[in-house]
Parts: sequence; structure tokens; C-alpha cells
Amino acid sequence: MDFQFNSPVHKIEDASFTDKKIELYLKRDDLIHPLISGNKWRKLKFLLADARLQHKTHLVTFGGAFSNHLLATAAAGATFGFKTTGFVRGEKVTNDTLFMCSLLGMHLIFTDRNSYQHKQELFSSNFANLPEAFFIDEGGASAQAALGCSELVTELPEDFDHLFCACGTGTTAAGILNGLTAKNLSTQFHAVPVFKNAGWMRLEIEKYLLKEASFNLHSQYGFGGYAKTTPDLLFFIKKFIAATGILIDPVYTGKMLFAVYDLINKNYFLPGSKILAVHTGGIFGLLGMKKQFQF
Ligand SMILES: *Cc1c(COP(=O)(O)O)cnc(C)c1O
Repeated sequence: MDFQFNSPVHKIEDASFTDKKIELYLKRDDLIHPLISGNKWRKLKFLLADARLQHKTHLVTFGGAFSNHLLATAAAGATFGFKTTGFVRGEKVTNDTLFMCSLLGMHLIFTDRNSYQHKQELFSSNFANLPEAFFIDEGGASAQAALGCSELVTELPEDFDHLFCACGTGTTAAGILNGLTAKNLSTQFHAVPVFKNAGWMRLEIEKYLLKEASFNLHSQYGFGGYAKTTPDLLFFIKKFIAATGILIDPVYTGKMLFAVYDLINKNYFLPGSKILAVHTGGIFGLLGMKKQFQF
């Protein structure tokens, strides 16, 4: 169960980087699959292998109405022959993400915010008589997910001085850090939480670390909160997309890259530094936010 595909690393050209002798590269996990957001595939890979081993044929998972994880699970389920059910947080709504989930065969169960808090109970009460059902936590958060993300490091064609990644649950960040530690690389890791004042993200990342590791947490790029934007952020995203031809979403990769560009501007990096930023995918998220962009 794999796509047998190492995502490429692309260099981003920008005149201001040349002046500062900085090189910026993007690890294009967005190219792994059009619907299975790059890091969501890495997070699901070992979970699906576990499900298969245990002869489970029905994936049950959880997410918000714009969840890249729900869409990824629906697409992975359809691709690899699993039934899928998604518990969606909140009252019934329709949007592009949920439309795609349904199209891919996912059964959606809208769940009030209180019940949604108790995921194991929702699973037990709805799937008590279905031994073929397999529980996957919101966002795929698990040790297997971190393991899948650590594989990103083994794919790198060369060493980088800095590596940046956006954080939701912090699982992807932890996995990448584990990968760097396992390879004894001196690459400095930078986590960019997509929430407001998310200093707490440090502990979330440390939960999944196999060995202690130091890293930088840049918690000043939350732009007011999860899925919130500012005119500055939207301006940056439009400019980046038009200059590179690479789509980035405002929820994750847009904020992370804004941080990288801002830090380059503020001379945070030594001249000669090579920076790798992970494009974690999530392009579909753009469609949920099209009204915020003005042209
Ligand atoms: C889910 C997601 C993330 C966050 O990953 P975590 O492992 O939860 O930190 C980052 N980028 C994109 C595009 C995502 O969909």
C-alpha cells in the first residue's frame, strides 16, 4: 500500500534571496496525491497497513467540516479498498471538502460539538457490532503517523541547514524531528503553529519524540487563529502563487512560508544558509476560503 513516490524538492527563486545568499527549497509533499494532502498520506500510511494486518475493512475517523484529513481518508479508503465513515464536528453543512468526501464514498455523520469531544465513545457506540471497523483519531494523530512522517527525511537528496514545517497537532513536526535525530543530522528544525499564541505546541510535539531533540518554535505566525487570515497573509499568498506557479493554502503552508520569508527579511539566517520548507499539501483548503481573496 504505497504510491511508490518520493516527492521532489524544488528550488524557489527570488531576487532578495540571492542578495542575502540564502537558498530556499520546497519539499513538494503536495505532489504526492491531489486529494490525499501530502502529510496526511504520510500519517495514514502505517495506520492503513495496521488496519490491513488486522483484517479491518472499514476506516472510521473524525474531523471538522474543512478537514484535509477527512478528505485524505476518504480518498485513501477508495484507493485501497476500505469503506470509510467520517464523524464531522458540528451541525450539518455542505462545502467542497465534504462534497468530495461523499463522492469518494465516505459516510458522513454530523456530530454535535459535545459528543464530538468523546471520540472513543462515539466509535464504540456506533460500531460495537462491527469488528471490521478501525478507529483513526482526528488528523490521524498517532505514533504510526509520526513514523510515516519521519520517512520524509530519508528522501532528502542533500543536507539542509534549516527545515520548516507547519503544525496543527504537531505530529508531522515530531515525525520529521525523529527522522533528523535518527540520521544524526545537524539540520535546525523550525515548527510554525497555525494557531494564536501556540506556545503549548512545544509539549504536543514532544509527545511523539522518540528521543529528546531541540527545535525552534515560531508561535508569532498564527494570524489570529486557526484558519484565520489577515490582508498581509492573503497578499503574500497571492504574490507567492503568481510568482512560482505553486499553490499554497492559507491555513498551513501559507502561514509557514510567510514565516520563512519574514525571517529571511529580518536576517535571521546566516548568509550561505540552505533552507528546506515542507509543502504539506492542503490545496483543497483554498476552495473553502475563496471568498477571502479579492482581485
Ligand atoms: C493537517 C495538516 C497539517 C498539520 O499536520 P499535523 O501533523 O497535525 O501538525 C499541515 N499542513 C496541512 C496542509 C495539513 O492538512
